[in-house]
Amino acid sequence: MGSLAPMPAPVVTVANLRKRYGNFTAVSDVSFDVAEGEIFGILGPNGAGKTTTVESLQGLRSIEGGEVSVLGFDPRTNAAEIRRRIGSQLQESALPDRMKVWEALDLFGSLRAGGRDWRELLGDWGLGHKSEARFGSLSGGQQQRLFVALALANDPQLVFLDEMTTGLDPASRRVAWELIRRIREQGTTVVLVTHFMDEAETLCDRLVVIDAGTVVAQGSPQGLIARYGGGARVCFSHGDGNLTWLRNVPHVTDVQRNRDRVEVRGDGPVLAYVAAALVERGIAPVDLRQERATLEDVFLALTEEEPE
Ligand code: ADP
Repeated sequence: MGSLAPMPAPVVTVANLRKRYGNFTAVSDVSFDVAEGEIFGILGPNGAGKTTTVESLQGLRSIEGGEVSVLGFDPRTNAAEIRRRIGSQLQESALPDRMKVWEALDLFGSLRAGGRDWRELLGDWGLGHKSEARFGSLSGGQQQRLFVALALANDPQLVFLDEMTTGLDPASRRVAWELIRRIREQGTTVVLVTHFMDEAETLCDRLVVIDAGTVVAQGSPQGLIARYGGGARVCFSHGDGNLTWLRNVPHVTDVQRNRDRVEVRGDGPVLAYVAAALVERGIAPVDLRQERATLEDVFLALTEEEPE
């Protein structure tokens, strides 16, 4: 059965990556593996070292220390081999406004023999009617789709998407998420750099959280939430009265109050115990509910600065 299936070979391995800019250490110790066919997230606050890490993998930065392999190649010695086989999303200003959509795709596809036919790519990404349009005339969402299409033009085995939904409105972000899932469905491994927690939580199979140049956690979103999310959270509104007695209810670990909003922390069946205890005392809040911890809770718990 599934449990006996061999793990797919890693397409990226990073062990103890270290990178300095002058005297400043941007990446001090980063290690992770990306398996074939997954959407792997690199998450962290601004300045954490995410872009430096992915640029090092693509052979765009020199590396001071550690071992890195991308599709079996070392970016220090075989960057050209890697770049032929990967796709990378462009930064926003990378295309001239006057360039036509088809010209950009034709150019990028020509970088590798056997690259994808641009007509097919345009259709795939909903830009079939835009091939003659100039880049500058496209909407933000269309430009985004073109960037994804360009990243796929050389038919890559692995694609790096760095902050691809930054600046998109909520509807365009949802569309972008679907596009990312489609890339994976077509067999391409995706490395996604993002600082959006909801994006990482919905899209990534596994992710690594980087803070100040080091890995502070890695795993699946649900695994990280279970481990670092702070347990269950039961919330309700209650106008007045002392509720500190709730601390003695089984499975409750903490009770916090912010005006009339009460938040009870606990574990396992805490919701049932809190509900029963409240009703027993004649309190029946209509909005009693358990709130799910999110990746954001994990992120804040892991990257919060220690108080001085
Ligand atoms: P992230 O992508 O997580 O926001 P970066 O990898 O871009 O982080 O940057 C990590 C740190 O390295 C930041 O403090 C940034 O200011 C610094 N940095 C990035 N590029 C350079 C550079 N070319 N020269 C000097 N410092 C840099």
